[in-house]
Amino acid sequence: MSKVLIIYTGGTFGMVYDHDKQHLVPANLDNIMQSLPVLEQLGIALGYHAFEKVIDSSNMKPHHWIELAKIIDKNYLQYDGFVVLHGTDTMAYTASGVSFLLENLNKPVIFTGAQIPLGEVRNDARENLVTSIQIAAAKQNNGSPMVQEVAIFFDDVLLRGNRAQKVESNQFDAFASENYPELAHSGIEITYNESALRRGIEVLPLIAHKKLEEQIGLIKLYPGITKEYLEMVFSMSAKGFVLETFGAGNAMTDEWFIKLLKKANANGKVVLSVSQCMGGIVMPDHYETGKHLVQAGVINGKDLTTEAAIAKMMFVLANMEESQWKEKLQHPLKGEMK
Ligand code: ASP
Repeated sequence: MSKVLIIYTGGTFGMVYDHDKQHLVPANLDNIMQSLPVLEQLGIALGYHAFEKVIDSSNMKPHHWIELAKIIDKNYLQYDGFVVLHGTDTMAYTASGVSFLLENLNKPVIFTGAQIPLGEVRNDARENLVTSIQIAAAKQNNGSPMVQEVAIFFDDVLLRGNRAQKVESNQFDAFASENYPELAHSGIEITYNESALRRGIEVLPLIAHKKLEEQIGLIKLYPGITKEYLEMVFSMSAKGFVLETFGAGNAMTDEWFIKLLKKANANGKVVLSVSQCMGGIVMPDHYETGKHLVQAGVINGKDLTTEAAIAKMMFVLANMEESQWKEKLQHPLKGEMK
């Protein structure tokens, strides 16, 4: 019998309505889970672990990503797969962060959550949970895990965790992965997209990294962004910035802007360009407005999502030699980019 560990961090999934406060609050999940007889019918042995304080995912911090990596590491040999119950708001950031923190991962870590709490009569929580458990327990014909990476299951799709983005706060299909195909689709059957799944990972002991660099920043360009604003941001003690550029990696050609970027580069700060578009890739050679970024030392983040770019920068800057930063940021570590 496969064994799956369910890790509960909080989020709408297990929230209840607090009549005094008049809003949803994170709640203890144990009772609701135990009262779901359907879980016993799955024929999968389940273990439970809850964060000491369950939270709305808007309160997730990088130290929580490290805590998750540690929990998975501690239980890695006892379980075949892991389901992480997490709020949807920052799920894509956490899934990205955990994908970088867990080195040599070859078991499934499936993040899921819900738009309506499990305790409500009409909800999406039950289906998301049941299918996630089945995916976490699924095996290939040769007995090895079907999924060997960090993924998000939501509504009816399984997406690579560091490729997914929350795109919808009202409908059930909350996540999309514009630049990478679905890993699986859940209909009457769960159909796996074998060619998209991560495979061939050497079997080595799992390493859970425990450091992330929080001294970074995110800059979203917009027409009219001022010199004063950007000078202030670049003067911060941050070691790196994710720069959300226009279209295929373009930005204004104002001299002051190029100078700022060159100065940041000369001061050893890394600047990683990702596109504001959900789909597509940064092509810095395509337009003059992209070329000058390369000349100013900006790194090409290709088709990285902003969520994955932030998590990757936190990981690379904390765990790799400074001389490797640029190289590591522009090449895939965990299938997060082309
Ligand atoms: N605010 C909630 C959270 O991210 C939303 C959700 O879970 O869907 O924790």
